[in-house]
Amino acid sequence: MECRSSTHYLDQILCHPESLLYCFGLLMHYLSSFHCLFCHGYEERGVASIGVLAIDLMAQVPQITNGYARNALQFSDDVTVYTNGSESVHAAMTSLLSTTAKAIKIDNRPIVRLVKGEKDAEVGIQFEDGSEIMHGFLVHGPRNEMDLDFAMDLNLEKMPSGGELKVSPPFNETTEPGCFAAGDIGSMGKIVIAGLAYGAFSAMGVVKQLQGY
Ligand SMILES: Cc1cc2nc3c(=O)[nH]c(=O)nc-3n(C[C@H](O)[C@H](O)[C@H](O)COP(=O)(O)OP(=O)(O)OC[C@H]3O[C@@H](n4cnc5c(N)ncnc54)[C@H](O)[C@@H]3O)c2cc1C
Repeated sequence: MECRSSTHYLDQILCHPESLLYCFGLLMHYLSSFHCLFCHGYEERGVASIGVLAIDLMAQVPQITNGYARNALQFSDDVTVYTNGSESVHAAMTSLLSTTAKAIKIDNRPIVRLVKGEKDAEVGIQFEDGSEIMHGFLVHGPRNEMDLDFAMDLNLEKMPSGGELKVSPPFNETTEPGCFAAGDIGSMGKIVIAGLAYGAFSAMGVVKQLQGY
């Protein structure tokens, strides 16, 4: 019985110099774009404004963006969600954000570029219409991709997102009996403490099977 786990942020982040994701990779480097506001953002609290990028995975799953935008209200009263020219994402975000206690703005202008601001985590968004808006920081969760070359022959079923393996609680057994997937590879909640907890449960599941109880 063998089980390993891993996911990684798309290599493409650093591969396409003209893409938004390339900028995101650079901005991560400069600590300007945060993918989790439970882990990051507190140090920047009180910034004049925050931009939330509803692109890629965050456009595909607007519920994720909804959570991020509401999280961002902890750190600034001025939060804008950018839907990058997508009418459908704009409509979804308008509906999801209609019940916030504090208003969250939604901007549907197509984005052409992100530029690093001069101080702290500041970052600017440049739009197709030539205008630019500077924010204290951006929020964006990138898509994950599994590194499953080692397990291709196991035919493990994936979650609909495609970024995780399908596992069953509480022991995180995959669709292949006897193969467990602990941590990021089997969960959309990618944080260290969750990975530790899943690992502990998987270990128990493995022992149960090996000892036959
Ligand atoms: C930029 C970034 C910032 C983050 N910030 C935070 C944070 O502030 N707080 C927080 O809680 N979480 C944070 N996370 C998430 C956290 O890092 C993950 O949830 C956690 O590392 C998942 O642990 P894991 O063991 O499931 O997977 P991993 O840490 O990805 O470990 C998988 C391991 O498997 C190895 N591996 C892959 N393929 C093979 C193979 N074929 N053979 C052998 N080994 C292999 C990999 O090299 C890797 O070492 C962050 C993640 C990223 C990418």
